[in-house]
Amino acid sequence: MKLNKPKLFVFSAPSGSGKTTIVKDVLKSFPDFVFSISATTRKRRTSEKNGVDYFFISEEEFLNKINNNEFVEWEKFYDYYYGTLKSQIEENIKNGLNTVFEVDVKGALSIKNYYPDAVLIFIAPPSIEELKQRLINRNTETEEDLKKRIERAEMELSFKDKFDYVVSNSDLEIAKKKVKEIIENEIKENN
Ligand code: 5GP
Repeated sequence: MKLNKPKLFVFSAPSGSGKTTIVKDVLKSFPDFVFSISATTRKRRTSEKNGVDYFFISEEEFLNKINNNEFVEWEKFYDYYYGTLKSQIEENIKNGLNTVFEVDVKGALSIKNYYPDAVLIFIAPPSIEELKQRLINRNTETEEDLKKRIERAEMELSFKDKFDYVVSNSDLEIAKKKVKEIIENEIKENN
């Protein structure tokens, strides 16, 4: 369905907060929504697909895109670059599609600067301890990367009050339900 004024839903959370699971659930529950595919220089995890989860590109390509002003926003962390491509947003808005983003807190605030109607949703972990345990259990990072991610999680948590909504993820099913309610209400207001 092509909407005149599609909505942008931007999700942020420290890594290991269950954000990806929640975003996947949103996309399943709202089949008309599309995911804004970011570009990154990080290595692809085995569960990920190029052009689906991210555009996995080289550092050289990424730097070229920065020079060509192709990003709405970009950040460098854990030695890797991540960025939201203007083309992704513009294409989705042009096609009238509600769009879901999964970016870090600074990226979310930058998107809101560009698109003040964007809805920012922060997924909060129950505690830093729990978050550390989830990251360790996930076992997708090296020890060095894990340490950096935990430090970063502490920084990201300090931004949560700048978001339109904060959803605690102590219980995944409850968090999924709350997020769906937020989206349904936002869509209702938009119509
Ligand atoms: P991961 O490596 O776990 O996929 O992502 C690491 C962090 O980068 C997460 O907080 C994720 O939300 C964030 N991220 C992913 N894409 C973008 C993007 O395009 N821009 C920004 N600023 N952050 C992003």
